Amino acid sequence: MIVTKPKPFRKIKQFTDPHENILVVGCNTCTAVCLAGGEKEAEQLAARIRLHRRRQGLGGSVETVTVLRQCEHEFNEEIAEMVEGRDLLLSTACSIGPQALAERYTGVRVAPAMNTNMLGMVKEHHVWSEYCVACGDCGIYKTGGICPIARCAKQLFNGPCGGSQGGRCEISPDVDCVWQQIHDKMVSLGLEDDLKKIMGPKNWSWSNHGGPRTLKKEGFQP
Ligand code: SF4
Ligand code: SF4
Repeated sequence: MIVTKPKPFRKIKQFTDPHENILVVGCNTCTAVCLAGGEKEAEQLAARIRLHRRRQGLGGSVETVTVLRQCEHEFNEEIAEMVEGRDLLLSTACSIGPQALAERYTGVRVAPAMNTNMLGMVKEHHVWSEYCVACGDCGIYKTGGICPIARCAKQLFNGPCGGSQGGRCEISPDVDCVWQQIHDKMVSLGLEDDLKKIMGPKNWSWSNHGGPRTLKKEGFQP
């Protein structure tokens, strides 16, 4: 999922203080699952902003609404009436959400309430770990189903580096060396000899270094 983290409240105040009619827009998919910006968190944030504004004598109104997915205009369309007359939409979605709102509601200022951190997996309750950086050309077949781009500090394709110690990465004893994991997995699959082959250069043409990417699903019949 896309993992997000709320911005510090001092940032939220900077975004919201100059405005009068604020709509906090929650998103009930990734950001709700990672307990950051779903309906409940959007309402909690709106309540905190209201309290802050009351204390500061700022007045105005702060309301909240939540859509299923802010990354689809179809769902953002449903809140058109609530957006009417607002001067700020504060999005608790990942950073795609506020951009989608800015695209749909062109006359209203938009602000992100979240920082978008990574594409991650749940490791334990309230803990996520980065598993993918959306490189556009997934090559994990060769590495035992484990991504060295997202999970190795040096993004090595032919690891491990010389710093791996006792299965831990040299950047921190709290971080697993992913190349140790890849090695162990390949051994368990009886494929350790594959690791002796040098992996060639990766095709980065599908990464975003050439600008924003567009994906069109071929053969899709609406
Ligand atoms: S190889 Fe690329 S697409 Fe596959 S998991 Fe790693 S970053 Fe993601
Ligand atoms: S110790 Fe392992 S995970 Fe860390 S940088 Fe070296 S190869 Fe990558």
